[in-house]
Amino acid sequence: MTFFDAGANTESVYCAFGGSELEDWWGNAMDQAAVSDFSDLAIVTPCCSKSTSLNDLRYVWPAAFGMCSLTVVNPGATTLCAEERRRIEQAIGSPLKVIWQHL
Ligand SMILES: [Zn+2]
Repeated sequence: MTFFDAGANTESVYCAFGGSELEDWWGNAMDQAAVSDFSDLAIVTPCCSKSTSLNDLRYVWPAAFGMCSLTVVNPGATTLCAEERRRIEQAIGSPLKVIWQHL
């Protein structure tokens, strides 16, 4: 399991329920999850005590955990239209989460 973030565009991470900023807490949560190579992403949010996963927090810019990735370097575009995404998802047989990573 790998964490794919937005690179230099990464700003912060927020609770998906109440919107609290979680950046300080998140670093420790990531350290704990890294011990098991991110095999267990389950967390309880510190702000509102709700069960969720590190993958379901609100990342700005978007980020996600995944077992594999398709990487396009310097794509020459800043969006992936719905039809392009649907065709890729159909080809790989899995939903796709697009992460725009600025190196
Ligand atoms: Zn919360």
